[in-house]
Amino acid sequence: MKYVGAHTSAAGGVEQAPLRAMEIGARAFALFTKNQRQWNARALTEESIEAFKTNLKKADIKAEHVLPHDSYLINLGHPEEEALNKSREAFLDEMQRCEQLGLKLLNFHPGSHLKKIDESDCLKRVAESINLALDQTEGVTAVIENTSGQGSNLGYRFEHLAAIIDAVEDKSRIGVCLDTCHTFTAGYDLRSPADCAATFGEFDALVGFRYLRAMHLNGSKAAFASRVDRHHSLTQGELGLDVFRFIMNHDAFNDIPMVLETIDETIWPEEIQLLYSLIES
Ligand SMILES: [Zn+2]
Ligand SMILES: [Zn+2]
Repeated sequence: MKYVGAHTSAAGGVEQAPLRAMEIGARAFALFTKNQRQWNARALTEESIEAFKTNLKKADIKAEHVLPHDSYLINLGHPEEEALNKSREAFLDEMQRCEQLGLKLLNFHPGSHLKKIDESDCLKRVAESINLALDQTEGVTAVIENTSGQGSNLGYRFEHLAAIIDAVEDKSRIGVCLDTCHTFTAGYDLRSPADCAATFGEFDALVGFRYLRAMHLNGSKAAFASRVDRHHSLTQGELGLDVFRFIMNHDAFNDIPMVLETIDETIWPEEIQLLYSLIES
């Protein structure tokens, strides 16, 4: 089974997100469990947590198919001690919010070296940050998202993802989310079925499909290998539909949340339907 949805708004409380997912015909969804551009947030209230669980049932979506995304401010590979600790604290808070909501995954971008430390040192810091968070939580898997490699962001090579996983102690609670736009702009082609077979084959060889826990399905405004992160709607931009046909017909993408972060949310219902229509019986 394929579980497709979108990154829905949690405005008015996290409990609104499952209802918005239901409205657009989603079988999965993503959300921020706090304001993604602020460090501090009020704790989730008991009422909000209960309403979230009730609405999730109402939407007939399983906790396994919800993919919370952490704050954009967090940098788990930060080169400076104080800022690194601040990020680690905020990440733990994000993990604990997932625990409270009964969710199983937390999606995040690995981190940036800010040109102050080398790549391998930064990747080690990211892995150590994950180890610290996993030690203090239960039942939530840390899901590393691959990036476009914009600025000094790591995670744009499959080797980076493999290196982080290698240094994480609890392999049962570490996974990967591949973003089609990021994969493509990082320099892995996805424009033809042969490109998709080669790119996902390389991923399987270096990281392993067993670690694939989620997908972000996005078109790309930015050119191939541009290292620029600019999403587009599925039918527009540089990518084309072959990659989405490939994904919707490949068993490696079964039973994981696959989430649209495309730019025009008014067409999410159509985009979700389009994806399901690509399944060849
Ligand atoms: Zn993404
Ligand atoms: Zn992106």
